[in-house]
Amino acid sequence: MSKKNVCSICGKELGMMSSKIMLKDGMLCSSCGAKLPKLSAGVQQYTLEEAKNIITKQNEPEQPYTGEVPNYVVLQVVLKEAVFGVGSQNLSELEVIINRQAAKGYRLHTISTTTSGSKGVGGGDRIQATCVFEKLPR
Ligand SMILES: [Zn+2]
Repeated sequence: MSKKNVCSICGKELGMMSSKIMLKDGMLCSSCGAKLPKLSAGVQQYTLEEAKNIITKQNEPEQPYTGEVPNYVVLQVVLKEAVFGVGSQNLSELEVIINRQAAKGYRLHTISTTTSGSKGVGGGDRIQATCVFEKLPR
């Protein structure tokens, strides 16, 4: 018995009296073992590989941003000020944009507007709407 027992994950020494969690091919200290979910029925022990995967996964953000499927989409729409009037042409344009995103599985998260103060040019102020769409979980 020359070899010391150490936790296979964090390397903490495990004495005779320390509580430890046995793996198929290693052992864990109680604090690392506590990070593992309860074993499902029929599974006797985790392997070290499984335990490592589970524990390192927990330290990562749940949905890493890969850029392939963005969680948020930001669209900027320039609207004439008349958008806030009733029955405006621009309002339906905005609707089309929102509905198009909805068809892709996005929901309008927030919308904020800024007025660009270009008075007199092109016949009046314009409003820039920034729409943030949130991807709905499938
Ligand atoms: Zn440990």
